[in-house]
Amino acid sequence: MGEAGYLHGSCLCGGIRYRAALPVAYASHCYCTMCQKQHGAAAGSYANVASAGFVIEQGAALVTEYASSDEGRRGFCSVCGSTLFWRSTEAEDRIAITLGTLEPAYTGPVDHELHLDTKPVWLPVK
Ligand SMILES: [Zn+2]
Ligand SMILES: [Zn+2]
Repeated sequence: MGEAGYLHGSCLCGGIRYRAALPVAYASHCYCTMCQKQHGAAAGSYANVASAGFVIEQGAALVTEYASSDEGRRGFCSVCGSTLFWRSTEAEDRIAITLGTLEPAYTGPVDHELHLDTKPVWLPVK
């Protein structure tokens, strides 16, 4: 998955490009209300990887980080708004990169669902 053991990603406007070294520890859909607000969607979807292997290859100056709580910071593109990553201030060795920004598309399993108590009732298609 990914050449040379990396995942690659970019934002919607293409100004930011990043890579993240494999392996993915786990991938998740997070239904917490902060992820819903930031993504404007039912969930934030992430691959959890080692922060040591995460590199912004292009457009680092465009990355803005928002501290959404004492525990977490959310990185996004200041031009197009694409959400790029979530990082914990308590576990700085890990970073959660957003599945929707990966190119090519993520093909690994998503094996966790987080904050099911706030999973939107409108999510299932009827
Ligand atoms: Zn962008
Ligand atoms: Zn969340």
